[in-house]
Amino acid sequence: MVNCIICLDKNPITADNPLTDEHIVPEFIGGTLTAKNVCKICNSKFGHGFEGRLSNSFIFKISKQVYNISGKSKKTTSAFSGLYDHPSLGKIRVNDDNRVITLPSIDILEDDDGLDITLKIDKQDQHKAKSILAKKLQRVYAEKGKNYSDAQCSHAAGKILENAEKETFVTQPTLSGSFTVNRKDTLLLHLKISYELLVYHFGHNYIYDSVASNISESLFEQELKQELSFNFIENKVLEHLLDKDNVWVVISGNICNVMVFGFLSSLKFTETNSSFNTEEIILYKFDVKTGLHSMQTLA
Ligand SMILES: [Zn+2]
Repeated sequence: MVNCIICLDKNPITADNPLTDEHIVPEFIGGTLTAKNVCKICNSKFGHGFEGRLSNSFIFKISKQVYNISGKSKKTTSAFSGLYDHPSLGKIRVNDDNRVITLPSIDILEDDDGLDITLKIDKQDQHKAKSILAKKLQRVYAEKGKNYSDAQCSHAAGKILENAEKETFVTQPTLSGSFTVNRKDTLLLHLKISYELLVYHFGHNYIYDSVASNISESLFEQELKQELSFNFIENKVLEHLLDKDNVWVVISGNICNVMVFGFLSSLKFTETNSSFNTEEIILYKFDVKTGLHSMQTLA
C-alpha cells in the first residue's frame, strides 16, 4: 500500500519524511479536519507553493478579515496593510489595525520670494513637525554652503510653522486599488480539497482510481493535467443552496463540487461506471468560523 496520497511514495516515508497531519481544508481558510496521509515533503511543497501564495494573497486575506478566521497564527493582519502612494497625502502606511498613517514629507521650492514649503505629516506626529522641518532646513542650507546650528534651525522652523498659511486635515482618506486572483493557484486549492476529501470519504482505495491518479499527479506537479475534466463553473442551484461564508464540498454522481468563498468548481473525479460513482448527493459543510464540519446525505 502506498502511504502518501500525493506523491504515491515517490518521496519514501522515513524518519525525516514522516506522514504529517494534512489539513483537508487548509488552516488559513479555517479548516481543522486532518488526515495523516500526506508526507512531510509534499505537505511543505504545498506550503511553499500554491497554498503559501494563496494565503498571502489579497483575496484570501480580505476573506479572512470578513469571515473573522484566525487560522494558524492568532495574530490578525489587515489585507490592506502596507505602503501606498496617495494622490494628495503622498506616502502613506496602512497598519494591521487598518489605521492610515501619513508618512512625513517636506517639499521645499525656492523662488524669488524665498522658500515655498509644503509639509505633510500625520496628526499623531504633529509634535514632531518642528524638529523634522528644522533638520530639513539645516540640510537645505548646508547644500548652499550655509551652516546654521540646531538651535537656529529649530527657531526658524518654529517661526515658519507659526506663520504657516493653512492647515488641511484629511480625516477619512479614500484609498483605491486593484487586486488579481491567481486562477491556477485557486484551482489547485479546489483540486486539493476535492481529492483529499474524496480519499477521506471513500477511503484510501480511491487513490488507485484511474481519474484519481491524474488528480494526484496534478497536485504533485502543481500543474493541472490536460486529462482532467475540471474548472470553475456557475451553477444557480448550488449557488442558491450553499452560502458563501463557508467551504462546501458536494459529491454527486461522478462529480465533486467545491465552493470556497463563493468560487465554485466542478471536478469529474471518477468514471461513471466505477464503484465510486455515487447515487446520493453527499454534502460536506466546513464552518470556517468554528472549524466544525458536518456531512449529510440527500437522497
Ligand atoms: Zn508525498
